[in-house]
Parts: sequence; structure tokens; C-alpha cells
Amino acid sequence: MNGGIEVQISIASGKGGTGKTTVAVNLAAVAARRSTGPASGPRVQDAAADRRPGDTTGETKIQILDCDVEEPNCHIYLRPELTQSVDVEIPVPQVDESRCTRCGLCGEVCAFHAILPGKRVLVFPELCHGCGACAHLCPEKCIRETPRKVGVLESGSARFPGSYRDIALVHGILNPGEALAAPLAKRVRGEAGPDGLVIIDSPPGTSCTMMASVKASDLCLLVTEPTPFGLNDLRLAYDAVKKLGIPSAVIVNRAGIGDGRITRFCESNDIPLLAEIPLDREMARLSAAGYVAAEVLPTYRSLFSEILDSVVDLVLEKSKGSESSVRSEESEGPEGSEEPEGSERSVRPEGSERSQRSGSPERSERPGRKETQTPRKEALEQ
Ligand code: SF4
Ligand code: SF4
Repeated sequence: MNGGIEVQISIASGKGGTGKTTVAVNLAAVAARRSTGPASGPRVQDAAADRRPGDTTGETKIQILDCDVEEPNCHIYLRPELTQSVDVEIPVPQVDESRCTRCGLCGEVCAFHAILPGKRVLVFPELCHGCGACAHLCPEKCIRETPRKVGVLESGSARFPGSYRDIALVHGILNPGEALAAPLAKRVRGEAGPDGLVIIDSPPGTSCTMMASVKASDLCLLVTEPTPFGLNDLRLAYDAVKKLGIPSAVIVNRAGIGDGRITRFCESNDIPLLAEIPLDREMARLSAAGYVAAEVLPTYRSLFSEILDSVVDLVLEKSKGSESSVRSEESEGPEGSEEPEGSERSVRPEGSERSQRSGSPERSERPGRKETQTPRKEALEQ
């Protein structure tokens, strides 16, 4: 699963304003409250008191990648100390007209109509994706590339009071008026750490920027609203994610304003419906004021903690499922032969307590909690 990375969760939606960022920062907040396991409580508080911001030795890392580079807003809730800022540039072609033979090849290979050979070779930098194809294929080697700044990549970290771990944040800020978001989003996406929990806040919609952000994640959480518009946008996002071969699960936000069509859609497509976040004036007030609900309201801390558990369970389950299908395809040995060393892996940085919790009766009784519609990981671990 993604090389050395343990869990990568992307969060997407078919349209803006559904609550993607709310889900992202709340999941990060509850994860940061856990020490080596998912529990919170005095042990965690004590540990937090002994640590200083930035001291992450021995911790499982928690990282948010805010790929919504046109409107990044995770930082509003996390209020991180930003320690790094780098310009992000893409290479755009510059043609040496004196050597150009007007062969037209550059115009043919450019998929974005960003270079137009004619009497002169015209370049439209704002359309250029910096793919380098024209320069690479020019038979006269008369195209050189010059950098064009499209935005800034910033990174830093935050720690909530009482949390055990820092939350690392990377986001991109697109230049005003810049049309090309994908190269910057890809740069942000490329900052995923080598281990720990990575939460990717993708841009809304189903653009190539969204696809680039979600790509290669272990699970995509689709956040939606229980309305006809919400269902339409959910369908679009679900289809896009499915095409990438990424498993998805749904979180309904503002539950209570619509009807049961999202539930029916999830049932008919066998998509786990992880939770329903109620329409709640207090939650809305906190979000509008830049607070993370799970840091303020115990009810939401429990709810997002449960969602995090379900997410990690699902990732583990999918991982186990793909391992077994690979094993069953490749296996020539006796049934039930031992798993290869390390196959238990790594998806469970904090998994030691999950099996105990998942048997807890109070789990399904909490507000907003939805049982996943797939078998629990315990059965797979037996
Ligand atoms: S490919 Fe090179 S030589 Fe051909 S038109 Fe373009 S710049 Fe000129
Ligand atoms: S670098 Fe790629 S996108 Fe840009 S002009 Fe050349 S072929 Fe087109």
C-alpha cells in the first residue's frame, strides 16, 4: 500500500461547500489526540504535557495535504506555524525562431493548444502544462524551457492543546488569476510523508486536479448532503474515483435537511455509508469561527473518532482483501499456508486497540454513527 506509507485517505466531493475540510481537520484532530493507540484520556493528556511542539520522535505522523489550491482553508482551522514557503514553477517553452523550420511538430504534440506554429511560433504560457513534450520532440532542438511561477507551496505544523501529536500541513496557494491548478496540486500531493496517516483534502468536483489529488490514496471519503443536488454530485465523484480503482466510502453532512436517497444510492452500489453528521447550529457556528468541532465538543470528538476507526478498518479490510486475492491467484501451496512475513503490515499504526473498540456496544449508539456495510476486519484477522 503506497510503498512505505501506512494510510492515505483522500476526501472529495462532487461540489464545494459540502464539508470536506471539516471532515479533514476533525479526523486529523482526533488522530492527534491518540498516543500509540486510538484511545484518548489521561494517558494521552500526560504524554502531551511532556512533549513540546515539533517534538515528534517516535510518533506516528499525521499530515494534511490541502490540495484545494484555489481555495485552501485547512490552515484556517489548524492555525499552523508555517515554516517553509517555496515557489512552484512550471517550465514553459521559448522558441528560438532563427532555428525553427516551422515543421509544426510542436503544435501537433501539444494536447493543450499552448503552442501554435505558423509564420511565427506562438506560445500561450497560461495554457501550457509544462509537460515538456514540445521541447523534447522538436527536431531542431530550438525550444528551451523557462520557468513560470504558478503559486506557492507552504508547509508547517500545528498542535491542539491536549493533543499528543503535531499535525503537519502542506498546502498550495495558486497565483491569483492562474488557470492551471493541477501542477500545484500535484506538488502538494507529492509531499505525502513516508509513513503515518495522510489526509488529503482534494478540490471539489471531478476535474483533473481532483483526480490528481485523490490518485493513489487507500480510500476516498466522499462527503455529500442528503439532497437531490448532493446525490447528483456524489454520483459524479463516485464514478470518477471508481475509474481510478480507489475504494470509496460516504459521509453525509448536514443530515436532516433532505431525504434517504443517499442511503439508497449507497446501498444499491454497495458503498459503505460511514456516518451522518447532523445539521447542527453549534457545529456551524464553530466552523464559521474557525474552530474544529472535535476539539470543542465531546460529541463530535466521539463521532469523528468513530469515523476514523471505521476508515482505518476499511483500509485494512481492503488491503487484506487485495492481498488475499493476489495470494489466491498466485498460491500453489496448501490452503491456509502462512502469510508472508510483514503482510500484516503497517496499515495499522494505531491498530492495537481497534479490535477491542469495535466490539464495544456503545459504538453504534453514538449520534451520527453508521455501521459500515462491509465485514469487519476482525473476521479477516482471525
Ligand atoms: S517543432 Fe521546433 S522546429 Fe518544428 S515548428 Fe516547433 S519549434 Fe519549430
Ligand atoms: S510544454 Fe507541453 S503543454 Fe506546454 S506547450 Fe509544450 S507540449 Fe504544450
